[in-house]
Amino acid sequence: MEFPYLFSPIKINSMELKNRIVMTAMHLGYTPEGFVTDQLVDFYVERSRGGVGLIIVGGCPIDEYGGMSSMVCINDDRYIPGLRSLAGAVKDGGAKVCAQLYQAGRYTHSAMIGGRKPFSASAVRSKLTGETPRALEPGEIAGVQDRFAEAAARAKEAGFDAVEILASAGYLISQFLSPITNKRQDEYGGSLENRMRFGLEVAAKVRRAVGPDYPILVRIAGNEFMEGGNTNHEACLFAQALEREGVDLFNVTGGWHETRVPQLTMFVPRKAYVYLASGIKRSVALPVLASNRINDPREAEEIIRNGEADMVTVARGLIADPEFPDKARTGRAGTIYRCIGCNQGCFDNIFRFMPATCLVNPRAGRERDLEIKPADKKKKVLVVGGGPAGMKAACVAARRGHVVTLVEKENRLGGQILLNERIPGRGEMTTAVEDLAGNLSYLGVEVMMGVKADREFIEGMNPDTVLIATGARPDLPDIPGVDLPHVVQAWDVLSGNTGVGKRVVVVGGNAGGLDTALFLAGIGTISSDVLHFLVANRAETIDTLMGLLNMGNKQVTVVEMAGKAGQDIGLSSRWTVFAELGRLGVSIMTNSRVVRITHDAVEVETDAGVKVIAADTVVMATGSRSVDDLKHKLNGIVSEIHVIGDAVRPRNALEAIKEGFMAGLAL
Ligand code: SF4
Repeated sequence: MEFPYLFSPIKINSMELKNRIVMTAMHLGYTPEGFVTDQLVDFYVERSRGGVGLIIVGGCPIDEYGGMSSMVCINDDRYIPGLRSLAGAVKDGGAKVCAQLYQAGRYTHSAMIGGRKPFSASAVRSKLTGETPRALEPGEIAGVQDRFAEAAARAKEAGFDAVEILASAGYLISQFLSPITNKRQDEYGGSLENRMRFGLEVAAKVRRAVGPDYPILVRIAGNEFMEGGNTNHEACLFAQALEREGVDLFNVTGGWHETRVPQLTMFVPRKAYVYLASGIKRSVALPVLASNRINDPREAEEIIRNGEADMVTVARGLIADPEFPDKARTGRAGTIYRCIGCNQGCFDNIFRFMPATCLVNPRAGRERDLEIKPADKKKKVLVVGGGPAGMKAACVAARRGHVVTLVEKENRLGGQILLNERIPGRGEMTTAVEDLAGNLSYLGVEVMMGVKADREFIEGMNPDTVLIATGARPDLPDIPGVDLPHVVQAWDVLSGNTGVGKRVVVVGGNAGGLDTALFLAGIGTISSDVLHFLVANRAETIDTLMGLLNMGNKQVTVVEMAGKAGQDIGLSSRWTVFAELGRLGVSIMTNSRVVRITHDAVEVETDAGVKVIAADTVVMATGSRSVDDLKHKLNGIVSEIHVIGDAVRPRNALEAIKEGFMAGLAL
């Protein structure tokens, strides 16, 4: 497939971009002191060489009050040499480079700025930090705006091709724009015209600082998705006013960090917020960039071809595969490792103050250490097991020049990842399998499915090396009654091997148990197609539709021993999982231990004594145990054997893929 729209050049003021793919700014955690590091340069150079048109670096704090010292700082001249080396290196790789000007206002935690109180338009408590900022005094406003302009001038001096003013996501400029956070009585508060003033004056000052030809981008929220906040209507009016102020492009994203509408997780359908960019595009003449959950060049091409936006941002998509643009341009779209929106390697790491990496790309952030080089000696490699660890190991080994065969006992590749297929909002996990399979095929790996690799088979194959990636099997705890016929495994439920009764108790409240509960609670609710049909034909009232969407025909209870359920789910996604479980009416019991299963109930020990929960089916989601028996059977027939992934110790897909990657690299 060709992508003529995606790969057509576009001019943004004086900056000519070779294509319509933009890597938007993302905090990566590679600059612990605020100065540009080799890690950051290596990361972006790899993306630049991969063919992206424009890389936006940041957020770059414009002052000491609205960011963290671990971001890519631009608030002082001492940062300019590092920024210059970064900008030069990115441009040498072929992309243009832009600095995002960041001031978070009330989203800044006082602990991040030496205990000082963050400022905002008004003293309105931030749900994100739990703190109340102070309102900027009228006499301070011009000074803050000047910091934006000074930072823009530094970016220009450091050789950046453009700057982006960050006016979205609930940061300082949006705090002035929104009636939720702007309660001012002066000329910066009240009417929309007044609330826009702060951002417009920032744009005007930045323009004066960089001159008429220098590109200025603005990132805006297409809808705050906050009750009582600005919608796409106000966003359009703000964009029109900014256009009059002389900016050059709008990068349109979704809502604020505080919103309860998910923005970036797997629950967000692909291209979900393109309509917000389209709304802005209809109201301005400037080019518009669509953002959020665009992870496939085919969809990106459609967005531009259909006139919904002029360009697309692919941020996590380029963490996942730096070669995304070049692979699409050169007929290798089927080998792109697409971002699956899991956030496990990127945002979840950032929230734990760790550098970003990626579930599908373990090299992200370690570009120099983990370079995939040709092997010194070509080997015949046999990988046993077609789950994520085995598939990744086979891909890396084949890329290094080894002759690789992968054997899978089932008739499908993917292992445990396939269990996500039927869980509402989790289907994108299987994209990782699709992409690994695409690469296996491209790299010429021989894949044998439905084959059990026993000692005789392996002896016949005569490999130099065997990688055992045989995964894990469900574990069964020693609970009285666990062998009763209505006790089933979560794996069997999710793979469709068994059905369940009306009243279901799920034993185990980690990710596996909660996902299973989500699947079960969704049974009997209407599908998105049916919802669309009913809405389009105004067939039911909104209340009836909500009922049909939220009420399935199973009564689901999750029982978890620990004090909290879902502890193995990353911070960025956990709240969305609980929101979905709540919406679907799932009961979750914590600090609760199943002591006995009877033919129609589960007895649970709780702080308040033993409770009996009626159950037609009991679903066990109590973990798994490694399957590694093959390794003991290969003594004497293979000299090099490695066990990888869950066959070593059951863990999550991020760990499995990383271990597969490292095994492929070590051969
Ligand atoms: Fe995408 Fe997950 Fe990788 Fe983040 S960790 S870039 S969400 S695939």
